[in-house]
Amino acid sequence: MKKLQVELADRIKDLPPYLFASIDKMKQEAIDAGKDIINLGVGDPDLPTPAPIIDTLQKAATNPKHHQYPSYVGMLSFRQAVADWYKRRFNATFDPKTEVLSLIGSKEGVAHLPMALINPGDTAMMTDPGYPVYEAGTLFAGGKSYFVPLKIENGFLPDLDAIPPEVADKAKLFFLNYPGNPTAAVANHAFYEKLVAFAHRHNVVICHDAAYSEIYYDGKRPVGFMEVGGAKEVGIELHSLSKTYNMTGWRIGFAVGNSNIVGALGQVKTNIDSGIFQAIQEAGITALEMDDQPLAAIRNIYQERRDVLVGGLQKLGFKVDPPQAAFYVWIPVPPGLSSSEMTAKMLKECAIVTTPGNGFGKHGEGYFRMTLCVTKERLQEAVDRMEKAGIRG
Ligand SMILES: *Cc1c(COP(=O)(O)O)cnc(C)c1O
Repeated sequence: MKKLQVELADRIKDLPPYLFASIDKMKQEAIDAGKDIINLGVGDPDLPTPAPIIDTLQKAATNPKHHQYPSYVGMLSFRQAVADWYKRRFNATFDPKTEVLSLIGSKEGVAHLPMALINPGDTAMMTDPGYPVYEAGTLFAGGKSYFVPLKIENGFLPDLDAIPPEVADKAKLFFLNYPGNPTAAVANHAFYEKLVAFAHRHNVVICHDAAYSEIYYDGKRPVGFMEVGGAKEVGIELHSLSKTYNMTGWRIGFAVGNSNIVGALGQVKTNIDSGIFQAIQEAGITALEMDDQPLAAIRNIYQERRDVLVGGLQKLGFKVDPPQAAFYVWIPVPPGLSSSEMTAKMLKECAIVTTPGNGFGKHGEGYFRMTLCVTKERLQEAVDRMEKAGIRG
């Protein structure tokens, strides 16, 4: 019989090249050679989920009513807990029935949102460097991506006035993310106000990804997009329990915002997934109702780690400021090296996995990213290995 020719769809063929493939291969080779790898590549908290959240899951898992299909949009009690949290945290008001939607992690919301807003050929804008799913989701919906550069001289905020007006007028959607991955940049009130005005001027929907809003340092709580007047009218914010409560494996997040956008995303999802296991939603309610104590302890741990890594890098001559939020350090590569050359060198000479900046977009070239998701002792070990190898900024 003739062998079946599997002809893949263009949307798969058109995906951007996976820039982390060569680093993955080198990492596997180092592991196979028995090297003691320090993995500062992944943005995935190593700390455990706080105990009360796990207790709620354990109890809720025995309830047979949770064993059936969950509600598509999320249990009303979960959406109410989200609305209450937004009110407490950002003084922003959302109707849990029409302006809140549960997500199977915020990545899922990012990937599906373009299907609700983008027709084939339409443009979505997104920052460069940025989370790669903004581009992939746009591509899967048949849309075109327009990359807005983030530059150090602007604090890694987009220069909205530099976006050509004809591009902004044509665009349907604009993805942004503060505190940011990979830059760890934080936005301020004035920027968000400008962003709301920009959205009105160009009739573009803002999708703000707030995955890191609760990971911050020195007691300085970042301003939220939804805190700014008019934000709810022009957009949607995606959020997640993943990074805040060390729950990346649980897959639970949420969207809030303009009811037309939230509703349209819900319509897409209703036709694709069947919601989140309700026992996990019960645990999510426990997380959102938790007082700040466990979070303060988690922030302290990251802050100690940040100070060890950034202090060590500065001693080695790297020009890097301590990030104010998120668990990433975004570092200029030493002169004469590209991002990929730097990450290859770190792996070969120090057995440290890092991420090349160009994997987040072409404006990420010249940087590499280290995460704070290992103990401070391991971070000190990483700095010591760099010093021993003579790697300097
Ligand atoms: C981690 C991350 C997400 C996805 O988190 P979920 O686990 O899917 O909620 C979304 N956006 C950014 C920028 C991230 O770094």
